[in-house]
Amino acid sequence: MRVAFLGPPGAGKGTQARELAQEWEGLHLATGDMLREAVAAGSALGREAKGYMDKGALVPDDVIIRMMAERLGKADAGRGFILDGFPRTIAQAEALAKLLKDLGQSLDTVVYFDVSEPELLRRLTGRRVCRTCGHTYHVTSNPPRRDGVCDACGGELYQREDDREDTVKNRLEVYRRQTEPLLDYYRQRNLLATVSGEGPLATIRDAIRKVVGGMR
Ligand code: ADP
Ligand code: ADP
Ligand code: ZN
Repeated sequence: MRVAFLGPPGAGKGTQARELAQEWEGLHLATGDMLREAVAAGSALGREAKGYMDKGALVPDDVIIRMMAERLGKADAGRGFILDGFPRTIAQAEALAKLLKDLGQSLDTVVYFDVSEPELLRRLTGRRVCRTCGHTYHVTSNPPRRDGVCDACGGELYQREDDREDTVKNRLEVYRRQTEPLLDYYRQRNLLATVSGEGPLATIRDAIRKVVGGMR
């Protein structure tokens, strides 16, 4: 199974990818998580990415493409993966196709999560993330059992700096301008499957299983 999850920030890609990657025994490769780890570790990659991430801008294509070439080239990626948050530009999509071709692989499906703008705003500003395991919650629609504490590991929950309202608006604009053209790109290549990203988590998960399974 080689799938990419496409959709605006807050569409629920990470929430679904975490569960489904386990179910499908593949990797969950989230570029945002990889970049945040690099920032926390203070690596050269992290230092280069941080300024862009703080503003809600995209990290330059060459940086992301290098990072993903390295990751997809590792042996464990051979068992399949869900790409979450990558590709985000046409240049990244083209680089991904070439990368996979060189590895003798290709994408099975690109799943687009359709969610309305007001719902995205509500989700992003209410999102809380576990500092320890990265599990994601929402203050009202998907709260942890204990306030501020991760159900999965007991870690501390925090609000991402870029989930504050002004940065969120910028990220949504960046999405419209730079990432939305990928819908046509993948539609033209017969790879795009759309699911509604609104409603109960289990219903959305079923819809994803259906579109991905149907193309296998
Ligand atoms: P979300 O899915 O909630 O929008 P992510 O965690 O995927 O957020 O991304 C956080 C930030 O990391 C982005 O705003 C951007 O700065 C950077 N980033 C993540 N993935 C990419 C990518 N594929 N290309 C460029 N920048 C990226
Ligand atoms: P993305 O990875 O696409 O940026 P996330 O998976 O982090 O999105 O989800 C964004 C926020 O929305 C989180 O707070 C999450 O708990 C919440 N969320 C995810 N799916 C749903 C859903 N179906 N209904 C309501 N809230 C959701
Ligand atoms: Zn946790």
